[in-house]
Amino acid sequence: MRPFAYKSPSDVREAAAGSAEDNTAFIAGGTTMIDLMKLEVLKPGQLVDLNNLPLRGIDLGSDGLRIGALEKMSDVAANPKVTTNYPVISEALLQSASAQIRNMASMGGNLLQRTRCGYFRDVNTPCNKRQPGSGCPAIEGENRMHAILGTSSSCIATHPSDLAVALVALEASIRLQSGNGSRDVKLDDFYLVPGDTPDMENQLRPGEIIAEIHVPPLAWANKSTYLKIRDRASYEFALTSAAVALDVNGDKIRDARIAVGGVGTKPWNLPKVREALIGNPLNQETFEKAAKLATDGAKPTKQNAYKVELIQRTIIRTLMNLGGVA
Ligand code: SF4
Repeated sequence: MRPFAYKSPSDVREAAAGSAEDNTAFIAGGTTMIDLMKLEVLKPGQLVDLNNLPLRGIDLGSDGLRIGALEKMSDVAANPKVTTNYPVISEALLQSASAQIRNMASMGGNLLQRTRCGYFRDVNTPCNKRQPGSGCPAIEGENRMHAILGTSSSCIATHPSDLAVALVALEASIRLQSGNGSRDVKLDDFYLVPGDTPDMENQLRPGEIIAEIHVPPLAWANKSTYLKIRDRASYEFALTSAAVALDVNGDKIRDARIAVGGVGTKPWNLPKVREALIGNPLNQETFEKAAKLATDGAKPTKQNAYKVELIQRTIIRTLMNLGGVA
């Protein structure tokens, strides 16, 4: 690891302002940053430690759920306000990483974690995301874990966060703080598809940090769940996943929220699937018809074509589980 300067401010504006300097990076739990610095994928000249900032708290009120960006994944996953009112968030967190990492990693850091594409993490290979213009060896190479939705000829990397999938389904937003003030951005809009600039992954500007996550009120989000399909039962990234909330009236679906993971270059919102569920009978036929819409526009590769069917099956299984359909 290369030498770097370090500071740990206790004021949000000071931290944000300092970070606008060239080659400065933030650190909170360190579970992504330290890995990538050791690999020399990231080489910051200065680290600004956010842990002394007052960005904590898990509060539930009439305007929904507010989570400070420095809250640990494990604390949020176990909080009764979350498990009771938004179980999909808790379940997505508990299916992420390992218990040790969840104890260290912050909520804000989770949303900013980098892709697990092996080429991105290997500085001896080209990668458009790490080094713009150098090429994307994944397109013709190892791509079994890669995305089928939102890809481009420059990058096909999958977004790795489970939490982000649950939050996009719930139409959450984040508050971004800089030295000049703050702004709220819907998480679905925050993430960018790669296009010609895969190095630009989100709307974060230099000097901005994630200060807070806001989940709007949704009375029926207590009926929500997260299903993750992966190669092993723990400490593994998703092949496919689905975050779903259902509002059921008798045998009809009154409303729904749905987003999927493991298949998109960003957490993938599915408004067409949602529309196909609303107003229809709560049964397998409805689920199957809706799930087919999830892969509209998919561009699978040689090694990940299996994800087209797997994500449809994941959605159907999640809806069956949540709807209590045998
Ligand atoms: Fe890099 Fe994206 Fe290609 Fe992976 S898929 S090698 S992250 S450009």
